[in-house]
Amino acid sequence: MTDAAYADFPDGVVPLRAIDDDLTLVGLSEGPTLAFKDMAMQFLGQVLEYTLERNDAVLNILGATSGDTGSAAEHALRGKERVAVFMLSPQGRMSAFQRAQMFSLDDANVHNIAVEGVFDDCQNLVKKLAGDLDFKRAQHLGAVNSINLARITAQTVYYFWAWLRATDAGGWTELSFTVPSGNFGNILSGFFAKQMGLPIRRLVLAANENNVLDEFFRTGIYRPRSAAQTLATSSPSMDISKASNLERFIFELVGRDPARVVGAWDDLEAQGYFDFSAERERFVEEFGIVSGTSTHADRLATIRAVYEATGKSSTRTPPTA
Ligand SMILES: *Cc1c(COP(=O)(O)O)cnc(C)c1O
Repeated sequence: MTDAAYADFPDGVVPLRAIDDDLTLVGLSEGPTLAFKDMAMQFLGQVLEYTLERNDAVLNILGATSGDTGSAAEHALRGKERVAVFMLSPQGRMSAFQRAQMFSLDDANVHNIAVEGVFDDCQNLVKKLAGDLDFKRAQHLGAVNSINLARITAQTVYYFWAWLRATDAGGWTELSFTVPSGNFGNILSGFFAKQMGLPIRRLVLAANENNVLDEFFRTGIYRPRSAAQTLATSSPSMDISKASNLERFIFELVGRDPARVVGAWDDLEAQGYFDFSAERERFVEEFGIVSGTSTHADRLATIRAVYEATGKSSTRTPPTA
């Protein structure tokens, strides 16, 4: 299944490229849709097909996307006999490239649905339908969103791979990973790798202007924002103001006490935020997580500076039409 999942990737699947003596780029965007989500989604496509076949079952995947998820899911599941994909996306808020990747698929099992609103509106619709358990069962609804543990698990692998390759090449024994974050899925996989014993020094959570997670890791206060407060930025896959995987970090923070997790989300419901400011120092000391926010101008300057200093950009150029 892994051979089949990664057949369309370059040799080695995840190539590492040194930018300078201290910085290495982990090439997670080499799959069929050029999004890191291919890493997990292509594997999930294989696992789903295998499981459905064995159980003689079918599945209707219902999803919400701000860009990369939808495209990666559709490319992983297109043409699969026992799966249909229904993907909600915010109208006019995806990049033209992502729109083309999704809306040009003509496989009979792929259905694109544009919603007037932002990503969170799409996600709320999906959550509502998935919360109707009778409907969900009757319609064989499933999800491949970023809380899907098969995705988190598949993503854990490349932290080990990158650590092994980078330490081979550079002679370090401890590395930090900087992870562009939205739903807290990718960095959670790194966090789990660290919990499993991989010597990761810091996990650096990188946010764009929609920086609820940076705010949380700096202050200990988590205050999700409304759709109206969510900006449309030049990195739409990170335009998320309510992070779906944060519960899993909080669970570790509170010593795996489910009652305290529920308590935090009760606070959130009642007052619009929860407050772990008293535990703030543990985020970095115990769990190694730090964070920061970039602006559009920061990102352009960084891309330009790296390109000018090294001549390096993506390892793979997007296919032309
Ligand atoms: C999905 C995505 C993110 C956010 O990843 P999370 O796992 O949701 O934190 C960041 N950048 C790109 C390019 C993405 O596709």
